[in-house]
Amino acid sequence: MNRYVIVGTGVAGVSAAQAIRATDPAAEITLVSEDPHGFYSRPGLAYYLSGEIPDKQLWLYAKEDWQRLNVRFVAGRATRLLPGEHRLELGPAGALTYDRLLLAVGAKAVRLPVPGADLDGVAYLDTFEDARRLVALARRARSAVVVGGGITSLELTEGLAARKVRVHYLLRGDRYWPAVLDETESRLVEHRLVEDGVHLHYNTELVEVLGRRGRVAAIRTEKGEIIPCDLLAVAIGTRARLELAQQAGLETQRGILVNEQMASSVPDVFAAGDCAQVFDPLTGQWVMETLWNPARWQGYAAGLNMTGYETKYHHRPSFNVTRLAGLTVTIIGSLGGSRDDDLLTIARGESEAWRFGLEGVTLYQTADVNRLRLVVGQKTLLGALVMGDQTLSIPLQELITDQTDITPIREQLLRADVPLDKLIFNFWQATHPRQRGDQHG
Ligand SMILES: Cc1cc2nc3c(=O)[nH]c(=O)nc-3n(C[C@H](O)[C@H](O)[C@H](O)COP(=O)(O)OP(=O)(O)OC[C@H]3O[C@@H](n4cnc5c(N)ncnc54)[C@H](O)[C@@H]3O)c2cc1C
Repeated sequence: MNRYVIVGTGVAGVSAAQAIRATDPAAEITLVSEDPHGFYSRPGLAYYLSGEIPDKQLWLYAKEDWQRLNVRFVAGRATRLLPGEHRLELGPAGALTYDRLLLAVGAKAVRLPVPGADLDGVAYLDTFEDARRLVALARRARSAVVVGGGITSLELTEGLAARKVRVHYLLRGDRYWPAVLDETESRLVEHRLVEDGVHLHYNTELVEVLGRRGRVAAIRTEKGEIIPCDLLAVAIGTRARLELAQQAGLETQRGILVNEQMASSVPDVFAAGDCAQVFDPLTGQWVMETLWNPARWQGYAAGLNMTGYETKYHHRPSFNVTRLAGLTVTIIGSLGGSRDDDLLTIARGESEAWRFGLEGVTLYQTADVNRLRLVVGQKTLLGALVMGDQTLSIPLQELITDQTDITPIREQLLRADVPLDKLIFNFWQATHPRQRGDQHG
């Protein structure tokens, strides 16, 4: 009987267990996790914080699902991996031996590197425990400061505002999320935040957290301004958890380097999800992502390969459908972005691939809060951002993922003598006939 050990019970780890069980019904599968809450929707934490969903909606697996998967759980932190001995140490919880092991250990929020950052009341949104703590802090807080960029900083801002906390959102630069949004898109988001009562502070850098009796009482900015607050929420990026991989001698850069089989540089050790760094054929780079779907697909591919069922993980153009200040936004492929001082690394729900600027022509269409941005390559669409009206979200996901040859409409697109949205939609209908009914049915 084959023994599989998976470190991490996030979506990558659980998907790997599904793949192993589907291929090797007799396998012994052990899932190790230090998170007492196990497997839940991490993106859903933002909706729990804002009060839109109850906590029970975060758990994605029912008792019967676990029974069907038939895995053994070991609670605790994996502390040392000894690949030569096929052994994983778990601190006081003992040790496990394995035939194949998967590291699906995810990423962790980067800590704020300023004095006072360890005061009570400084919060992050990483785990269910963090979200629960934020809800408790918000109950007592009258005023909060949020720092950082990307999706999570807005989720914190909006979540706290929804809980009637007065929010000051500090931006180090002059606009929101320049790594991914262009100026028009940033302004659309900022405008809505201000309308919702959020106090935006541009060109403002937090340099110190000030406390009273061990608790956050205010923050001090570079210009010497003091902003009183009872809560400081931070989302300045994430870092892959590389401790085990580095100690075990796996090849790493910003993540654990894996090949198309999701195998690491060390025999019988695989990696998947937020901790893995994969090759992106579109940009020709090894990229990090903190996205739910790629973590799921990578985990599944890793699980299959661990059983000996050879399959390749093909990195697709990254996409996310998210919400920024109440506006639904789809981000796909490669868009090119500007320097972002609010993020030290990539944010949650992001792909490094979005930031790469490939050789292409950028086209725009804006109507009220609805915005369409396209990056047009020589033969294919390279990237797109759809803000507001989402009619083109699926068509563009498919056209970009499938690398559909756009030669028939390229000239027309560039001349822009037809509205971009109509041209794209009609082209998608013509090239993807199967999906037509789904979109309108
Ligand atoms: C607030 C928030 C918002 C997000 N928004 C989006 C979004 O809009 N769209 C999107 O696509 N994605 C979003 N994401 C990201 C998405 O949830 C992640 O990409 C995905 O959950 C990664 O899954 P994973 O299995 O790789 O890692 P994780 O879910 O992080 O799981 C890793 C697990 O490993 C465990 N672990 C780590 N080290 C050890 C150890 N040494 N010993 C034992 N256990 C260990 C951890 O406790 C954890 O259970 C968001 C995430 C958060 C937190």
